[in-house]
Amino acid sequence: MQGKKAHQESLFIQFQLSDHVPADNFYRRLKGILDLDFLYQTTSKYYGKEGQKSIDPVVFMKLMLVGYLENINSDRRIIASSGMRMDILYFLGYSLGEELPWHSTLSRTRKLFGEQVFLELFKQVLKLCIDKGLISGKRQAVDSALIPANASKHSMVERMVMEDASVFSRELNDNIEKEPVKPEAPKENNEDNNKNDQEKKDKKGPTNQTHYSPSDPDSRLTTKPGKPMKLYYRAQMSVDTASHFITYIQAFKGNQTDNSSLPAILPQLIANLSGSHVSRPEEILADTGYSSGKAIRALTANNLKGYIPNPGRYKSSREDEGFIYDDQYDRYVCLMGVELPFRRIESAHDEPTVYKKIYESNISDCKNCPFKEICANKKGFKKLVDSADKPLYEYMRKRVESPKGKQMKSLRSSTVEPVFGSLINYTGLRRINTKGLKQANKGMLMAAVAYNIKKLLAHKPKKIKELKMPVIKGINGLLYRLFSSFIRHYPLNPIPSF
Ligand code: SF4
Repeated sequence: MQGKKAHQESLFIQFQLSDHVPADNFYRRLKGILDLDFLYQTTSKYYGKEGQKSIDPVVFMKLMLVGYLENINSDRRIIASSGMRMDILYFLGYSLGEELPWHSTLSRTRKLFGEQVFLELFKQVLKLCIDKGLISGKRQAVDSALIPANASKHSMVERMVMEDASVFSRELNDNIEKEPVKPEAPKENNEDNNKNDQEKKDKKGPTNQTHYSPSDPDSRLTTKPGKPMKLYYRAQMSVDTASHFITYIQAFKGNQTDNSSLPAILPQLIANLSGSHVSRPEEILADTGYSSGKAIRALTANNLKGYIPNPGRYKSSREDEGFIYDDQYDRYVCLMGVELPFRRIESAHDEPTVYKKIYESNISDCKNCPFKEICANKKGFKKLVDSADKPLYEYMRKRVESPKGKQMKSLRSSTVEPVFGSLINYTGLRRINTKGLKQANKGMLMAAVAYNIKKLLAHKPKKIKELKMPVIKGINGLLYRLFSSFIRHYPLNPIPSF
């Protein structure tokens, strides 16, 4: 007989939210392991003694977390989605029908709390992972990714020259003894030339030196290979190579280079892992972007061993160019036997903190050389430039080219790159939705917290494998099987029958 469901709404029902959230539900399990009570103490300094009650800091942080766990990057949508999910309401400590906080309180509270609060939460979750024995700590892979800022390149405006600076420059100009002005040669089309100059400037577009974004002054113009120039922040991250948990994350300005960031990354990375029974980081794996004399010195200062390939432009030897290095006298000798002694240290034009060693031959030595045309410069001598940090680069080259160094290279790319992919695509880090470096840092910390939590709850202890008898192949295997079958049928010590 065909059935037909009749519906009569009950007037009174008995309902308990916890009865409707299964024991293995993600948020129920998360509620069981995540204790955020430390937030009451940490955030108490942001509140006064009087006035209206604020949003509960634990509820705020849980709502933030829900946003990153569910890959929702709008405060309004976080509240709307949470209200429709029984498991999230249970996680937040709300009942069905109970009104959730207004969405704008989320952005106000996010601005109110300092970065330290978010860093504290990151450390608490990291500690949970460490306590479960999931983090080794010994070897860390470091990498960075550009995350689009919440500002458009087209809204950038020209930086104003400081008033004081202009006064100072005017005074300087007044004090300069003026040379007699040479009469300028008449230009045929002065107006056209000015127009062309302006057009060239416009075509070149804004730069970080000349322009800034008024809506987000901390964002910086930069580009990824094959992508247009945009305003970005840079996420620096380190991942434990044993377990792929995130052990450090921080926002930097988009145009800050990786090698200049490494000295700031290392102490914070060590601090994140300190105070736990996990071993102190010993090895750092990074790509060639992190290579510089300063970065290698920072590794040594923090008692760390690095596996960082030297930059492509670094030359370990000049033998292919016909110059042999003589380390006893710190000089090069060319194929004609002419010496190029060390002359001086120079700083690089683009990076004033990078120093170079200059080796030069004498003009008189090169005067009659048959290779002068292709070897010497216009002034008639040969100039060789070496990095002043050559011993450091050589130390790193030997490490990277060793068999272990080659293993570390493939380990680095297989560890950190998938984690960035996951953060960007599934954990709310596709773009920064806030303004300013501090706010960007808070967002990155929350994305890393959500990533670590997902990984922690997905972890299942490994089952102990059953022992299997070895499979013996060939004639030996046949004999073994025949012998075992014989023993089964005719045991050596048969059980006596009574
Ligand atoms: S030009 Fe000078 S440095 Fe170059 S090969 Fe000749 S002698 Fe040597």
